[in-house]
Amino acid sequence: MFKIILEREKCIGCGTCAVICPSSFEMGDDTKVNLQKGEEKSEGIVREVEEESCNKDAADACPVQCIHIKEI
Ligand code: SF4
Repeated sequence: MFKIILEREKCIGCGTCAVICPSSFEMGDDTKVNLQKGEEKSEGIVREVEEESCNKDAADACPVQCIHIKEI
């Protein structure tokens, strides 16, 4: 299992993650990205997934490094 953590306040709304991994990331109306099925927690918006899949590529491509993946 992996945990995706989005520090949404740092997002600059470039849209890269939503192109690379639309199953997790979708642009919001406020020009920041939303983590689909994410829950708001103290560390950020969090979602647990079985596989890293495209989330890793999205995290690597984020220009402000506000997407983090942790193995749990
Ligand atoms: S790649 Fe990073 S900065 Fe760009 S929309 Fe996604 S989270 Fe925001």
